[in-house]
Amino acid sequence: MKLLKDRILKDGVVKPGNILKVDSFLNHQMDIDLINEIGKEFKARFADCPITKILTIEASGIGIACIAAQYFHVPVVFAKKAQSVNLDGEMYTTKVESFTHKKVYDVILAKRFLTEQDHVLLIDDFLANGCALLGLIDIVKKSGATLEGAGIVIEKGFQSGGQQIRDMGVRLESLAIIDSMSDTSLTFRE
Ligand code: 5GP
Repeated sequence: MKLLKDRILKDGVVKPGNILKVDSFLNHQMDIDLINEIGKEFKARFADCPITKILTIEASGIGIACIAAQYFHVPVVFAKKAQSVNLDGEMYTTKVESFTHKKVYDVILAKRFLTEQDHVLLIDDFLANGCALLGLIDIVKKSGATLEGAGIVIEKGFQSGGQQIRDMGVRLESLAIIDSMSDTSLTFRE
């Protein structure tokens, strides 16, 4: 997606530890005109899928998922990071290791919001090592819903998550795939 790639080149900042900061337009301050175009692009790429629900994970996936959902006309449900898991049987639970915070979270989703009738599109801002997406995939599996695919705004193609998830047979659409980055250059996959 050219608009997105141009914006990453203009305003993205590479930080130590393979972190790309895009907080001036994507995940702190949010450029809604750009995110609307991102939502339309996800709709175009998954137009053939009978999506009934968009699933994301808090926090930065939520805003993007909500704007995308306006083009799919389906609810958004987000997995919550929990301090402790209440094992009362009403929640799907899984564990996710945060790439940015280097911490393992329990992640929960109320069972009543995802059922085997659902056709799910996963949405998130970044894909790096894949832990966040693998956690969401695990929740979808536990629910018995059909996983239609995953839409990612920025995939860091030099980390292992994208390959691993494609190898699982999941349809993965990333709007910008970064092949390499340093503080002086950033290249995208064609
Ligand atoms: P993964 O679980 O795939 O390793 O990482 C995905 C999550 O980590 C995303 O939800 C995102 O919040 C965060 N993340 C991973 N890499 C980056 C990065 O380069 N920049 C920012 N801002 N967040 C990242």
